[in-house]
Amino acid sequence: MYRIGTGYDIHKLIEGRDLIIGGVKITHEKGLLGHSDADVLIHALIDAMLGALALDDIGTLFPDTDANYKNIDSTILLKKVFELVKEKGYSIVNIDSNIIAQEPKMMPYIPKMKTALAKILEIEPQNISIKAKTKENLDAVGQKLAIEANAVILLEKNS
Ligand SMILES: [Zn+2]
Repeated sequence: MYRIGTGYDIHKLIEGRDLIIGGVKITHEKGLLGHSDADVLIHALIDAMLGALALDDIGTLFPDTDANYKNIDSTILLKKVFELVKEKGYSIVNIDSNIIAQEPKMMPYIPKMKTALAKILEIEPQNISIKAKTKENLDAVGQKLAIEANAVILLEKNS
């Protein structure tokens, strides 16, 4: 049996924060604002996994009112959610995702993101797609005020 899930996230870009996307630190003069490290791609992936299993979303599971999650490394949250996936008897078939950012350029970091995520999610990097897009200078993302990500994930029940 297969289950599919989709996830979306957006965070505001501000000065004085590290930019961390897909578990990788990106060189940039701004970073994403959030209660955790604001890793927009990992948050979209977490919601895709939770969505595939029709569980509560990331905000319900890890509320931003909980001090335990302040500035937390989102890879820790990803590991927790992947544990839930495994507990339910599923593994990941593949992931397709997009990072939508006007700047900086994501391309140079994508191989590192794939390696980092593949290790946590116990799949081969070639089963993870991460595409980089701009917003053609349109809307808040295009105006460099925010970065968005979305993801689709396919889970398979282990026999
Ligand atoms: Zn988020």
